[in-house]
Amino acid sequence: MHSSHSRMALPEENSRRKPYPMPVSQMNSLLTPLSEEYVRLVLSVGLHDPDYVDAYYGPPEWKSETERDHPSLEAIAGRAQTLIDALRHQHSSGVDDAVMLRHRYLQRQSEALLERVRLLQGTKRAFDEEAEALYDAIPPTYPEEHFVSLLKSVGDILPGTGDIPARYQEYQKRFMIPRDRLDRVFSAAIAEGRRRTAEHITLPAGDNFSLEYVTKKPWSGYNWYKGSGQSLIQMNVDFPIPIDRAVDLACHEGYPGHHVYNSLLEEHLVRKRGWMEFSVYALFSPQSLIAEGTANFGIEMAFPGSTRVEYEKEVLFPFAGLPPTEAQQYYAVHGLVQRLAYAGNEAARRYLNGVITREEAARWLQQYALMSPERSMQRTKFFDVYRSYVINYNLGQDLVRKYIEAKGGTSDNPGRRWQIFAELLSSPRLPSTLA
Ligand SMILES: [Zn+2]
Repeated sequence: MHSSHSRMALPEENSRRKPYPMPVSQMNSLLTPLSEEYVRLVLSVGLHDPDYVDAYYGPPEWKSETERDHPSLEAIAGRAQTLIDALRHQHSSGVDDAVMLRHRYLQRQSEALLERVRLLQGTKRAFDEEAEALYDAIPPTYPEEHFVSLLKSVGDILPGTGDIPARYQEYQKRFMIPRDRLDRVFSAAIAEGRRRTAEHITLPAGDNFSLEYVTKKPWSGYNWYKGSGQSLIQMNVDFPIPIDRAVDLACHEGYPGHHVYNSLLEEHLVRKRGWMEFSVYALFSPQSLIAEGTANFGIEMAFPGSTRVEYEKEVLFPFAGLPPTEAQQYYAVHGLVQRLAYAGNEAARRYLNGVITREEAARWLQQYALMSPERSMQRTKFFDVYRSYVINYNLGQDLVRKYIEAKGGTSDNPGRRWQIFAELLSSPRLPSTLA
């Protein structure tokens, strides 16, 4: 069978150890054919897995050739193993940091690709093992008592008495954005996220996005990056959207989250360095922990401390027709509810490991993640499709915060904080190197 990729030239140096440092340009040129093979493999997996390729703006012929060849999962697995072996035999010690990161990143992304292929072939692992294999991070486990005590602290500041999840649902209903005001609220929040981001990060010339409202999706928002600094941001309007989602989604999907992350990778790695592996984004890979972690952390980058409530009071609450006098209390509750985020991971772990049923997972989400019954069922469907991907949001956010603060980017030093954040958005760093 003819395949244009089986002739991939593996450099002879692979088999010989080099005790002396290699010039950067030589190392980069050794990685070039391997990075092309990686891109072709990601596109190939995408032919079997419609959720796999999150973005691609590399050469169109790589995509059309992949579609024409249409390799089987077995063939993809074989080529992925060859690629991993070739990368493992390269030695990047002594080259500059960025190239060393590039090498390790390409290898780890390729290993995750092979893991995803195995999963598509039917090999399912336990939740924690899968998370580590795909996302290069081990999710922490919390006992139920941890969530019971957090829940109690939410109950202490919520109005009323009785069952806390039910009280929270009643309370939150008062803060829904009316459907006919959604666009005004979201557009304002994204514009403000962009304005605040642009004060610290040089955005690529002509960067832009379009915004769409969609239904019947397992997610609440999505950024589809199109290349050349352009994104399509979709918001799911299946359910009423509470006011806190405006800034959260604006920052997460837009500025300084996914849109900025993808734009900076394109600008710094694809265009300036010619590292084509970044022209494709494999969703089920370590890259997603960095992407989701920086997108979530981006909310507190753009709206640190009390600046968020001030903006909500002055702009978004009035735009949404909500009482600004209640913003302070609402965000005090919101802050505590966010600490329950790991309850979602726990539900996913138990459900995907077969310990609890879908209905039990939904009930757990209502009880400890304070989701409405409808949203909790939507979330179990997210688990079906994205599986251990759920760890990327909260664990990713925590790892990114720790990394940035350990490098001196503490909240009392916003200049340094933005600098480290921007560097992280523009470099191929692996989750396991954040700790
Ligand atoms: Zn995201």
